[in-house]
Amino acid sequence: MYFLNNWLFWLAFALPGLLLGLYAQSKVKSAYSKYAKVRTERNIAGSQVARELLDSHGLYDVLIERVPGELTDHYDPRNKVLRLSEGVYDKPSIAAAGIAAHESGHALQHAAGYKALGLRTALVPATQFSSKLAPLLFTIGFFLNIFIGTGFGLYIAWAGVALFAIAVLFTLITLPVEFDASRRAKQQLVTQNILFPDEMEGVNKVLNAAALTYVAAAVTAIGQLLYYITILNRRQ
Ligand SMILES: [Zn+2]
Repeated sequence: MYFLNNWLFWLAFALPGLLLGLYAQSKVKSAYSKYAKVRTERNIAGSQVARELLDSHGLYDVLIERVPGELTDHYDPRNKVLRLSEGVYDKPSIAAAGIAAHESGHALQHAAGYKALGLRTALVPATQFSSKLAPLLFTIGFFLNIFIGTGFGLYIAWAGVALFAIAVLFTLITLPVEFDASRRAKQQLVTQNILFPDEMEGVNKVLNAAALTYVAAAVTAIGQLLYYITILNRRQ
């Protein structure tokens, strides 16, 4: 009964994030594959879009590189490099323009000293450490408590929960960073005359779907944290 109840808790906490994640992924895929086939009226590739946006803000020192893979695009604030996937770097599509502008949006945040981006970057090492160690500590502590009945096991498990909270914080601070980068992207694409207003529908669809994947990641992380807390509380 005890483990069945834990299983039901797991379903209740994990399912919303899981379903939202699957929905967001399918939205990203369908929007990307549709608008990767639509050429921009100015026939301008993603790398050129990014270069124009960066240069218009004086960010000549931000480099743009091509990286392998699909949707592997990101901005690296440590090295001031904007890395665009092949399908974005070379292609003059609406999807490519939207993604290139979004990543440029992160470079604009960096240049403007946007606080949430700095906090997010600072949290990266701690998050990598905690997301590896937290499940391990939790599992060891939890089973120590169950099989040896020691209260010490619960302390270890709670330490795992505290560490996991850092990973949750990271997914939450990611939300304003991503939403703001997309907001800047949409604004810049029109004001810099890179896209015409009637081309923005595709950009909106691609970027909004991508934003939803970050919401799903946050919901998943919060659900996992609540699950950990609930089953530990039941042990006490
Ligand atoms: Zn982003």
